[in-house]
Amino acid sequence: MNIAKNLITLKEQLPETCTLVAVSKTKPIELLQEAYDAGQRHFGENKVQEMTAKHEALPKDIHWHMIGHLQRNKVKYLAPFIYLIHSVDSERLLREINKQAKKHDRVIHCLLQMHIAQEESKFGFDENELDDVIALIKAGEFPAVQIDGLMGMATFTDDEEKITDEFRQLRYWFEKLRKSAGADIDAHVLSMGMSNDYVLAIREGSNMIRIGSSIFGARN
Ligand SMILES: *Cc1c(COP(=O)(O)O)cnc(C)c1O
Repeated sequence: MNIAKNLITLKEQLPETCTLVAVSKTKPIELLQEAYDAGQRHFGENKVQEMTAKHEALPKDIHWHMIGHLQRNKVKYLAPFIYLIHSVDSERLLREINKQAKKHDRVIHCLLQMHIAQEESKFGFDENELDDVIALIKAGEFPAVQIDGLMGMATFTDDEEKITDEFRQLRYWFEKLRKSAGADIDAHVLSMGMSNDYVLAIREGSNMIRIGSSIFGARN
């Protein structure tokens, strides 16, 4: 695996405005350092303990992205340093993030995760739940949280038409959210696309892709 080369190859395919998050879950510190040395600054992890350990070991100008399901009792460990939480999937989680952000005297930036895939197992809001949570946010319930946009994961399939439909749905909700901008909402991030579907995601308007295996190699 030539990490530096993989990063260059990916960057060549991205529009200027698209942020590449290097998903480094399960990978050892040395490989993250290699990506860092090649200029990569955005890293994504899906486990709190693994992220905090890597945060402690690596340079402090890294932007850490939480992309996995987040338990409320673990928010406190991320609160001091997290750059962006992509996986906000409940009002209760949002309340806890708000509480911990206040404690650390900061604003924590978040994306709302939308359920777009066919699989039952994937987390996220549906359209009605999105409307409900947006109403609460606009009512000023979470002053220490800033909503930057939406995140979603498409169905794991070879059916490009299906993936495109799902990304298009997410893009539609994103445009809707953009129009409802307010004090605690400034929707400018649309996080969609992974190693197997980022080309389709970019075509549908993604401006943040989360790439693991195409940078670091397959996970065990
Ligand atoms: C693991 C993961 C990725 C990256 O997956 P790859 O297929 O390795 O690129 C992206 N997003 C989320 C939410 C993940 O859990």
